[in-house]
Amino acid sequence: TIDGAQGEGGGQILRTALALSICLDKAFRMINIRAKRRRPGLQYQHLAAVRAAAEVSRAEVNGATKDSQLLEFRPRRVVAGDYRFDIGTAGSTSLVLQTVLPALMLAPSPSTIVLQGGTHNPLAPPFEFVQYAFLPLINLMGAQVEGRLLRRGFAPAGGGCIQASIQPVKCLQRLELMQRGEIVRCSAEAILANLPTHIAERELAVIARMLRLQPKDLNFTIDTDAIGPGNLIAITIDSVNITECFTEFGQKGVPAERVASMAVRASQRYLASGVPVGGYLADQLLVFMALAGGGNFVTMKPSLHTLTNIAVIETLMSIRIDQKQISEHGWQLTLVS
Ligand code: AMP
Repeated sequence: TIDGAQGEGGGQILRTALALSICLDKAFRMINIRAKRRRPGLQYQHLAAVRAAAEVSRAEVNGATKDSQLLEFRPRRVVAGDYRFDIGTAGSTSLVLQTVLPALMLAPSPSTIVLQGGTHNPLAPPFEFVQYAFLPLINLMGAQVEGRLLRRGFAPAGGGCIQASIQPVKCLQRLELMQRGEIVRCSAEAILANLPTHIAERELAVIARMLRLQPKDLNFTIDTDAIGPGNLIAITIDSVNITECFTEFGQKGVPAERVASMAVRASQRYLASGVPVGGYLADQLLVFMALAGGGNFVTMKPSLHTLTNIAVIETLMSIRIDQKQISEHGWQLTLVS
């Protein structure tokens, strides 16, 4: 039994439990699902994650109804194949993908998964983060996962679509990310859908000034195919050993300059810390590290998401993930089996 109210008390506890349950063939019951959220219980995005995990593992499920705070999940066996899931709302496609990705990466044959819903949601990994930062690291572990953005869907409108093609591996290789290495390139992209172009121009001007970027490192994407109005800033930092990506969404009532400077500040905190792995990547890598049975990485002070994720992983697996502060801004996370 896993308590969904522990630590951070959000959807990640559920997604991690689902991801590990189907990989390890372990049934679980979850109580108090998303107890610390404004609208607790299973919302559409979480129901989609449960549905996706259940379909991929032919699971038996009880309690998968909207607002339910109790779920029983009993996987049978993971079946690779071509899957399509429609979240039905603007719920995050990236988060549903991350729920079933580990199992499909370890399945006996390749899979393709198409997900419809939000591709650009605040409080979730935007597709650019998945593409530039998350997938390249996952691919270092041996599987080949290729992500494609078929259509952007900004929350709250949704209507986006992503596809992932997965070439599995038998065992995941361990990640060792102790050092970032030299910074090779810093670039920024302003993405705009159904909004006036001056927004992106003002954002890029602020970013160019604050990060001293040259015009060749500034990209302006007007997406005429996207559903809904939306604006995303993505600052990408390529180092020798890792690419990180810091994003910020334009919001109604928040000046474009402020949106840009929030993204810049997040990237500056990362640059100043000297660590390879940023805070969001850290919590998202843990399930993969656990399944690889070893690994090490250095990140910033662990977030509550990271600490909670460690606790959930340690409940479902006989492993320990140790954290040790190794510098002013650096924490080393190590899997001890
Ligand atoms: P939860 O709040 O429990 O639903 O989990 C949210 C997940 O989204 C966590 O894995 C976060 O690392 C991830 N996340 C939130 N914001 C961002 C962002 N700006 N970039 C990348 N990942 C994010």
